[in-house]
Amino acid sequence: MVDGLEAVQAAELPTGGAFLLQEVGSSRIVSPETFTEEQRLYLKTALQFSQEQVLPLAERIESKDSVLLKELLRRAGELGLLMIDIPEAYGGLGLDKTTSLLIAEAMSPLASWSVTFSAHTGIGTLPIVWFGNARQKAKYLPKLATGEWVSAYALTEQGSGSDALGAKTKAVLSPDGRHYVLNGSKLYITNAAFADVFIVFAKVDGERFTGFIVERGTPGFTVGPEEHKMGIRGSSTCPLFFEDARVPVENVLGEIGRGHKIAFNILNYGRLKLGAAVLGGMKLQLGNALRFAQERKQFGTPVASFPLTREKFARMATLIYAVETMTYRTAGLVDARLAGRARQAADYDEHVIAAIEEYAIESSIMKVFASEATGQLVDDAVQIHGGAGYIEEFPVERAYRDARINRIFEGTNEINRMLISGLLLKRGVKGELPLFAVAQSVEEELTYGGLPRARGEDALAAEERMAECLKRLALYGLKVAAEAFGTELEQHQEVLAGLADVVMDAYALDSMVTRTRQSASNGELDAARVAMTRLYAMEAMPRSFERTRRALCASTRGEALGAHLARVAPLQLFTPYNPAELREVVVSAVEQAGGYPLSVVC
Ligand SMILES: Cc1cc2nc3c(=O)[nH]c(=O)nc-3n(C[C@H](O)[C@H](O)[C@H](O)COP(=O)(O)OP(=O)(O)OC[C@H]3O[C@@H](n4cnc5c(N)ncnc54)[C@H](O)[C@@H]3O)c2cc1C
Repeated sequence: MVDGLEAVQAAELPTGGAFLLQEVGSSRIVSPETFTEEQRLYLKTALQFSQEQVLPLAERIESKDSVLLKELLRRAGELGLLMIDIPEAYGGLGLDKTTSLLIAEAMSPLASWSVTFSAHTGIGTLPIVWFGNARQKAKYLPKLATGEWVSAYALTEQGSGSDALGAKTKAVLSPDGRHYVLNGSKLYITNAAFADVFIVFAKVDGERFTGFIVERGTPGFTVGPEEHKMGIRGSSTCPLFFEDARVPVENVLGEIGRGHKIAFNILNYGRLKLGAAVLGGMKLQLGNALRFAQERKQFGTPVASFPLTREKFARMATLIYAVETMTYRTAGLVDARLAGRARQAADYDEHVIAAIEEYAIESSIMKVFASEATGQLVDDAVQIHGGAGYIEEFPVERAYRDARINRIFEGTNEINRMLISGLLLKRGVKGELPLFAVAQSVEEELTYGGLPRARGEDALAAEERMAECLKRLALYGLKVAAEAFGTELEQHQEVLAGLADVVMDAYALDSMVTRTRQSASNGELDAARVAMTRLYAMEAMPRSFERTRRALCASTRGEALGAHLARVAPLQLFTPYNPAELREVVVSAVEQAGGYPLSVVC
């Protein structure tokens, strides 16, 4: 194996991005099979709530019944579902991030509700948990924990979305020093119609980007009309207006001029959580599509029996397996980093923020991967329904529209793709990750014709080698691009985005091989998991190889390019599996389970 890896492997817990440098299976990962009894219990409670109290009211929620949404939040609060991330000292439960993500998964079958819930428990509440002072925490958190008050988060403006720090909303200290006077507006704010507490970002004196807690009813602060949206129609999305709005100085959140710390850290967690916040919906759609296809007959046969329908079921299950595996692996890394720390300690929140920031690369991967996987899955689900999939009466029509927003908010997928490659390179340059040393070793290895060998000799040996090849492709591509463009690299967005896709495939396959092996029973690998891992690898290998080649072609030319292409050529492995046979293994498991076959809660 390549030399530079030793540095990373020496550390007990992988640092953010280290998966790209480490061998497959170097460390154990958290997965649904390793959930504790307590975590399963929370998942079960939350699923029950979502199935019994939310889904039956889908039509009313979709009609934007904000009284009902507030009531549902309050009922969720009674069950403790709003207080997972809130410290015990302020009326919360202060549980681990894996549990928080499990709740997000359970809430996700109805996207309008899921977005409302996430905006309140995540972006609306966490800024106070992480950056509030003791007085602010004591005033707001107990009420947010029970759902008595609802929160919202206001960063985006008409002129600044992706470029969030370009905000124009301005805050000026009043002459008596008791208020900040806010002027400006915010756009597309979730929960705005009924939120009681808003986290608002404004620039003090037009310069220092700062967070404020703004209460509903603040003079000069108004909420505009609802937007008419493509999807998540039951959720509230409105503009906010500030006309000489007087916000007490004690409502400054964190330090003046340090609002970006709040905004970016909240986004990191939101991105990681998005993986969980689509999973429940993905699982529901697979189950629904299966039932529909088993009942619907054409040519005298249930459409579920046609190979092209079954190919879709296999793809849907495989995507769920990939998202689920990466999501809980990443949440587990954050929790592992926090293990042993006293949750009551004064500096605990700083460690939480640092742990989440550490895995910012993985979180951006989750955001992009999960949003696109759910997009593919609902597309397959509509297609399986035929014309019915296009008719409002069928929930899949709504799911299709609802899924689209995931590629836009929490940082667009374009921004997150650039973050994935950009952060890896930045960590490499800063010496936080021995990326260039390992990439150099990869180059030497390839120059001398060395190829990765599998450590395991089981049914996934070929997929393990493929995951190793994907990592080498990503590392090699990043190194060549960095050398070719230097500080200009960020202008070459297609190169960065293409290589980010290779990094994502590497993380996905590494995670799937590791989890499948880890969950072997008596040394026997589960056939459906093996088949899903193989199906994923069969798609990932050629597309990532092609993306790397394109990145190389965009970075160099002439003889140098010829040498690069020759070096990476042997990394394109091929496995002669029959995809129809693999698909049948997966679909049999799906049929037997009546949906996604790896549910951890009965
Ligand atoms: C339903 C809904 C709910 C929302 N909820 C909230 C909320 O609660 N709070 C909140 O603050 N915001 C919220 N948003 C706003 C959301 O986060 C933004 O819409 C998003 O960040 C994108 O910003 P934008 O719309 O200004 O698009 P823009 O930033 O204008 O982007 C337009 C296009 O240009 C691309 N682009 C932009 N910059 C670059 C670049 N440097 N390189 C390459 N491509 C680039 C984008 O990827 C995109 O494709 C919500 C939006 C919606 C639709």
